[in-house]
Amino acid sequence: MASDEELFRKIIAHAKEYGYVFPSSEIYDGLSAVYDYGPFGVELKNNIKEYWWKSMVQYHENIVGLDSAIFIHPTVWKASGHVDAFNDPMIDNKDSKKRYRADMLVEDYMLKIEEKIEKEVTKAGNRFGESFDEKMFRETNSRVQENLKKVAEVKQRFYPALDRNDLADVKLLIEELGIVCPVSGSRNWTDVRQFNLMFSTQMGSVNEDASDIYLRPETAQGIFVNFLNVQKSARMKIPFGIAQIGKAFRNEIVARQFLFRMREFEQMEMQYFVRPGEEMKWYAYWKEERMKWHLSLGIPAEKYRFHDHEKLAHYANAASDIEFKFPIGFKELEGIHSRTDFDLRAHQEYSGKKMQYFDHELNESYVPYVVETSIGLDRTFLAVLSQSYREERLDDGSERVVLSIPARLAPIKVAILPLVKKDGLPEKAREVMDSLKYDFRCFYEEKDTIGRRYRRMDALGTPFCITIDYQTIQDNSVTIRDRDTMLQERISVYEIGEVIKEKVEVAR
Ligand code: ATP
Repeated sequence: MASDEELFRKIIAHAKEYGYVFPSSEIYDGLSAVYDYGPFGVELKNNIKEYWWKSMVQYHENIVGLDSAIFIHPTVWKASGHVDAFNDPMIDNKDSKKRYRADMLVEDYMLKIEEKIEKEVTKAGNRFGESFDEKMFRETNSRVQENLKKVAEVKQRFYPALDRNDLADVKLLIEELGIVCPVSGSRNWTDVRQFNLMFSTQMGSVNEDASDIYLRPETAQGIFVNFLNVQKSARMKIPFGIAQIGKAFRNEIVARQFLFRMREFEQMEMQYFVRPGEEMKWYAYWKEERMKWHLSLGIPAEKYRFHDHEKLAHYANAASDIEFKFPIGFKELEGIHSRTDFDLRAHQEYSGKKMQYFDHELNESYVPYVVETSIGLDRTFLAVLSQSYREERLDDGSERVVLSIPARLAPIKVAILPLVKKDGLPEKAREVMDSLKYDFRCFYEEKDTIGRRYRRMDALGTPFCITIDYQTIQDNSVTIRDRDTMLQERISVYEIGEVIKEKVEVAR
């Protein structure tokens, strides 16, 4: 079996070969952590966006959309705290010259110990079988207890140091824990420094008039500054949400994880405005709703988990991540944050404009509290892609690579394949294609043997292949082949639309 690292490399190569994702400006050796989506990637991406938009906006009467500009008044980022606090602590290894996020080095250290604990528990479970009392084992096994204590001690020292912005202590901790650079293996570290992740540029043509502005590092602020415009124009009553899909930019320190950590990426965010004091109820509600959404994609539940934050961002009073098991391990896919009234209040203060809502039921005005759901589109794309990629050995000894992308997200829904390139079969196939192409994204192919065409469609993730053969000419029947089971069925051309629709229909 391929190691996770090997698997990750294969997925990246497959994504390029099959027109999903290309490194940006590849002919110039690429641009670090920037990627372009190819002909099939853009379809998958659009399908994910559409699925999210439908489930958030179309299925919720009290959520509306917005498309705010990427450029935004620079004071917005001062008010939101991004100018002063959107930093990551970075550290360099003097021998390898590699740069790391200091917080990630420590978190990875803790993760490794936690993995050791889990291994110990699994091993004991296998040894004791049915009679295994996991809770008791965790509470009494000396090695587990020792490791739990180690993690607790690191946490106790690490998070307060970050909160105090005591970077010298973070460095000391890295040294004391004996954390080494994965590349050089050495402990020869520089001091820890804060690094602001926002890209800045100038607006205006003449240098003297130009003012510094930022490329937005999150889409949320465009929603906050439009809060009253949206509320009034769409006549929204609290609780209500504003959803937005758009690009965000971060000058990430560590950027070597394909679509997982990009410098230009896309977010799908929803800010939900609620009465002060009711935010925890809605926070719990959206945690559950968002997990349901992920599961509705048809990906197994064990690939997801919640990770409640211990260290909260400056704006939050509760925060949790939905993590996904990528080939690089369990990592954040979506954040659900209770942002309090921090942003609206800050904009009220900096702009001098009231950011209040008059609640007719309570007969009072207040600055609403906000619960946010923020999911990375590119990370969702990577989750779907890595979950779908499979290498299979078939009964006849041959191998195939298949992308089992859920049918509703698949870039191409159906391939139309005439068995041979003669005897009127291509013409008949075109007829079938014409009857389907307004409802589904279709793909026509007549070159190569039918077997090779099936393999290509498997590797591309196309859930259905329709083959037009000699019998089609006689009785208007075709074969429909299922990508995952490879089973073929004979159906009438008039049934194709219904059969496919049933599989690709968006679940509610
Ligand atoms: P991380 O801890 O991984 O840096 P974050 O906590 O900074 O992520 P948020 O600010 O909560 O991320 O952003 C919301 C979502 O946007 C994340 O859950 C993730 O899916 C996505 N996202 C954030 N940064 C990136 C990035 N550099 N590349 C791709 N997606 C990203």
